[in-house]
Amino acid sequence: MKSHNFFAGPAVLPEQVKEKASQAAKSLDEMGGLSILEISHRSAFFTEVMQNACSLVNELLGLNYEFDILFLTGGASSQFFFVPLNILNANEKAAYVNTGTWSTKAIKEANRYGLITELASSKDQNFNYIPKGYDIPTDLRYLHLTSNNTIFGTQLKELPDTSVPIVCDMSSDIFSRPIDGSRYDVIYAGAQKNLGPAGTTIVAVRKGILGKTYRDIPTMLDYNTHIGKGSMFNTPPVYPVYVCYLTLQWLKDLGGVSVMEKRNIEKATLLYNEIDRNSMFKGTTAVEDRSLMNACFLLEDDSKEQAFLDACKEANIMGIKGHRSVGGFRASIYNALAKESVETLVDVMKSFEAKHG
Ligand SMILES: *Cc1c(COP(=O)(O)O)cnc(C)c1O
Repeated sequence: MKSHNFFAGPAVLPEQVKEKASQAAKSLDEMGGLSILEISHRSAFFTEVMQNACSLVNELLGLNYEFDILFLTGGASSQFFFVPLNILNANEKAAYVNTGTWSTKAIKEANRYGLITELASSKDQNFNYIPKGYDIPTDLRYLHLTSNNTIFGTQLKELPDTSVPIVCDMSSDIFSRPIDGSRYDVIYAGAQKNLGPAGTTIVAVRKGILGKTYRDIPTMLDYNTHIGKGSMFNTPPVYPVYVCYLTLQWLKDLGGVSVMEKRNIEKATLLYNEIDRNSMFKGTTAVEDRSLMNACFLLEDDSKEQAFLDACKEANIMGIKGHRSVGGFRASIYNALAKESVETLVDVMKSFEAKHG
């Protein structure tokens, strides 16, 4: 029976990628039958994988080779300190927009390194909307944004109007839509939401912005270390990087991020239309800020929660239970999730209404 993977992360991967990755875990023709799990990261095979993966990131995001692309470890969470450590002096200002759990953590780390202001926050309404229309000072080193709030199901649809360079946590919507690379100084994203397995984090650092802080940065925490060695200063997570490479190739073959955006809009519209139509369910976020990646919704009568989870389980729908900070349900509908899976979920919601409504 086909399963429908709505987990928030680690999350669904394309069938084709899983097949190739499984094959590579058994044996690689290019390496005389050795497994990807047992070869040197310095081998010609993997060196090429790493280089191609970086070029694909540049190409698919339209970054015009104005950035250095890194595959690092330590998760997106390590970028919360990597960024200010590397680009913010103690007497310089940066501002953060607080749109959820992840930005709250980013602010906590940044406070160790410079003069941080929280410019706007949606905490007053349990992060169910994206703040807009706040004033942005011009003397900031950077403005930090989170493009998609995985836990609360909101997404930034438009960048605020400013000439200040933007640092963006794109962990849960990178490669889901086109972006304007010229607005960013640093983009980072954990791979495990919309790209690959857990274990690596993509970082794009604008060329020319480093080397301007006065502090002594530990070697492993210095972007320049990793840029200088093409993400191979120490042993990179070979297998996760390889699987990311396969997904990037899959994405390119499909036509890139504009094609993906259309598919994502179609899937999300299907689901949100049902959430709005169905008398038993309601969405949790401001309609204009609804995420195309993570749709959060509640039952009008939460005593029926277990019954709905059971109905989902029967249809082989996995990972639909909401995060504890919101409750209810969360359907993560990333790039690799087939439309058919959303249709299945919508059918289950309809049957549930027919039976319990
Ligand atoms: C999951 C997530 C993170 C944390 O990622 P880790 O790789 O677990 O550190 C950070 N930001 C966002 C937006 C996320 O969705």
